[in-house]
Amino acid sequence: MGEGSDRPWHAMMCPEDGRGRCRSNEGVLIRGKYILTSAEPEVVRDGAVRVVGDTIQDVGSFADLSSAFPECAVFGAANDIVTPGFINAHGHFSEALVTGIAENFALGDWLRVLIDAIAPHLDRESAYIGTLLGGVQMLRTGITLTNDMFVCDPQPTPVTPGVVHALEDLGLRGVVSYGASDRRPGSVAEDIFVEHSALAEAAAASSLCRFRLGIATVAAQTPSLFERSVEFAASIAAGVHIHLHESREEIEFIRASRQASPIAYCAQTGLFASPTLAAHCVWLDQADVQLLTSHGVGVAHNPVSNMILASGVCPVSRLRGRGINVGIGVDGPASNDRQDMLEAIKTAVLLQRVDQLDPVALTAREVFRMATIEGAAALSLTETVGSLEPGKAADLVVFDGDSPALANIHDPFQAIVYCAGPLEVKDVWVAGRRRVASGEVLDVDLPCLLRESRKIARSLARRADLGDLSLLALSS
Ligand SMILES: [Zn+2]
Repeated sequence: MGEGSDRPWHAMMCPEDGRGRCRSNEGVLIRGKYILTSAEPEVVRDGAVRVVGDTIQDVGSFADLSSAFPECAVFGAANDIVTPGFINAHGHFSEALVTGIAENFALGDWLRVLIDAIAPHLDRESAYIGTLLGGVQMLRTGITLTNDMFVCDPQPTPVTPGVVHALEDLGLRGVVSYGASDRRPGSVAEDIFVEHSALAEAAAASSLCRFRLGIATVAAQTPSLFERSVEFAASIAAGVHIHLHESREEIEFIRASRQASPIAYCAQTGLFASPTLAAHCVWLDQADVQLLTSHGVGVAHNPVSNMILASGVCPVSRLRGRGINVGIGVDGPASNDRQDMLEAIKTAVLLQRVDQLDPVALTAREVFRMATIEGAAALSLTETVGSLEPGKAADLVVFDGDSPALANIHDPFQAIVYCAGPLEVKDVWVAGRRRVASGEVLDVDLPCLLRESRKIARSLARRADLGDLSLLALSS
């Protein structure tokens, strides 16, 4: 397939005009009242970050940096808060066109009535449009890297490269995977590996994306496919992205059929020899926690989705207390249904507190680290992202300190976690490029994107026969 037909909607992206791109040899300064680094020192007051090209060169006092580099253009303002870009530890662009539907189901039924229904009908065009739609929402809430698992049946033209093309066009960083399953009749192993390979190839050609081997769940794969997945991940030295222990039913089913918990099964089959990111980890016994710890498995906690699907509460403090890196995820647009990192961050704190009846079960400072450097660690990416330090990628967020919600900052961590929402996200930079300016995502023709997404979402709902789902859910 040629470039034109591969990327049919490329025309909706405005031509690159370089707005906000760092052009000066000395770079740009991004300033704020508080720079929250997720490194040492944790807070720089009246500070600035100097960005040259796609990299952070300096973090320090604004007065010092502006006098040392007087030619630098200055972004941000004296009252703003500057943070590292948020790492969304888990999501599914495959669900971007089915939001606000099927609310009254727990995980197992929800997968059957909604996710299995759309899986045969997703194609590269819907992957591209869905990723643009979800990605715009993510950027507006300060996400600069998203760990995605696209769930669909394999098609004659591989679907998932559409995710990479959209992330490149948005300028949003991605760790991309294909959530493979041979449980549905349309999915056979050979086609699944064609899809994995096509996605790996697209990611390799991208400056912003990295590939991981995706496994929807242990239950979604026959033992023979699972074994091949383990081998494939090891053979191309790719990390793994999998859902583990999201619901009690999943664990009971695998215990009955494979005589081990899903986590123990992953350990026994050698999956954890590859760096693994496990989404959810809600229901765990001591042996499971021990296996996650000893294999260095990273965890993505998805509080909003866990609440919507009535899945349970991830034991965040217990995991972090054992040294396990726990990031925060918004999860998919069908199980959240917003792609709002600030909502997920705040909810993570509230859920732990109400579950443990403890006002210090999780603090603003801790959850801020989870959403930045700890999410990066869960994805084995601390070399490049997750904190504001010289040499790291210039991925940052500027919160508007002159907005009513942030007018009076007594503690900048609490201000971000409890007070800030998407309205306070002023600018977002990814790889040294400003992707959000004054709250608007740059270089996207939004009316055109919305028009196309409505057309495709309607067609998808018709082909997947979702017509009565909302009524059905209401009457059940
Ligand atoms: Zn998920």
